[in-house]
Amino acid sequence: MKTFWTIFFILSSVVVYAADTNLLPNPGFEDGDKMWSFGDSTSILTAEAAHEGKSGLRVGDDEYNADPGSVTSAKLPVHPGQEVTLSFWAKGKNKSSGAYIYFYDSNGKVISKPQPALWPANEDGQWHQYSLKETAPANGASVAVWVHFSPGNIGITDYDDFSFSGISPDVKAVPPVPPRARAKPREETKVPAPRKEPAVIILKFDDLKQVNGKVHPSWQKISDFLESRKIKGAFGMTCDTLQDAKPEYVNWIKSRHDSGATEFWFHGWDHATHNENGKSLSEFDTRSYEEQKSRFDRSQKLALEKLGFAFETFGPGGGGSGQHFDAGTCKVMQDDPHMKAWLYPKPIDEDGKKLQEAGKVTILDRVWEVNTEGAVGVPDSKKLIAGYNRNPERKYFVLQGHPAMWAGPRFDEFVKIIDFLQEQKCVFMTPMEYVKSVKGVK
Ligand SMILES: [Zn+2]
Repeated sequence: MKTFWTIFFILSSVVVYAADTNLLPNPGFEDGDKMWSFGDSTSILTAEAAHEGKSGLRVGDDEYNADPGSVTSAKLPVHPGQEVTLSFWAKGKNKSSGAYIYFYDSNGKVISKPQPALWPANEDGQWHQYSLKETAPANGASVAVWVHFSPGNIGITDYDDFSFSGISPDVKAVPPVPPRARAKPREETKVPAPRKEPAVIILKFDDLKQVNGKVHPSWQKISDFLESRKIKGAFGMTCDTLQDAKPEYVNWIKSRHDSGATEFWFHGWDHATHNENGKSLSEFDTRSYEEQKSRFDRSQKLALEKLGFAFETFGPGGGGSGQHFDAGTCKVMQDDPHMKAWLYPKPIDEDGKKLQEAGKVTILDRVWEVNTEGAVGVPDSKKLIAGYNRNPERKYFVLQGHPAMWAGPRFDEFVKIIDFLQEQKCVFMTPMEYVKSVKGVK
């Protein structure tokens, strides 16, 4: 009997041991970056970030950083419905980065749902253990941890000792896909000639709509800021919320329109993507002329009724996996009786040239390297300043931004951009003001 119980205890402890074994390779970075993939240049391995052992992962930055952080572990095979638990130690005061459970399908493609994440932060600045549980989806074939720094933030988080439990003991880890080679920073071959005159800046802000009968506070903030700097801007709105626009929202738009400081431009009916043969497309991509025309007409009618003016400038919404307009959109721009300017979503091309040559619509196109934001929603003053200095011949720049995404340090970064442009004595105009100045219209 004694022997039986001894064997029983040995066996049960073996089983428990097997279930708890962490199969994630190099889970605490003691072998450097082995079996991890680093997709950014900010995340580092350092002894200072070690919870135990000699090395840990440090993600983020102690000053504003517009680059996203991306560090991925090896994959562990799972089967659909399998419950896995990720746990790790982290130390950091700001919620500037997070650890995600990533499931992959059998082709190694990341599955977008479920994608639970934990953004560790604790004001005490000490190490804490965190854990996160999730069930593998129907097409789940493997699981990994992805550590992400949210760009346009300030704050460092240290991570160490990752582990997955609930993994079958007989599986073998698959190394992570190495990151794509990063483009080398552009080398300055020659110093550009100094600018003869300051550039005209068209500040293009996207995605204004009524939220709960009100103007979202981020729009109030940007509007107040522009007013305090005595500069003009252009607010792009979607129009479906105009159907039940409340007086507060309507009056807010009207007063700014009437002051001449803000041009409100047409950014689409609903900015929603639609599906075409399983492909997600943006609002004005691959839709019939009639459907596109109706979206313009409905919006113009509402603008005239509710706001007392029609839109003269258009800029299509993004999203989806295609382009942001097509030949039908060009024809609508030619046919709409009010439209005069197009905040073109790219550098001018043949379609744009043809439309502009017809004489009615002026194309205001983009210079990719000169913009308010690097990634969408992330102001980047370094990029803007470098780009501005590299393009001394260009007369105007359309700078695109999404103020509703500019919480905290991102707004401060935008202020830095305006500081620079004002030091350069740039002239801030609305799109229509600029079009009139080019065409010699008073
Ligand atoms: Zn948009």
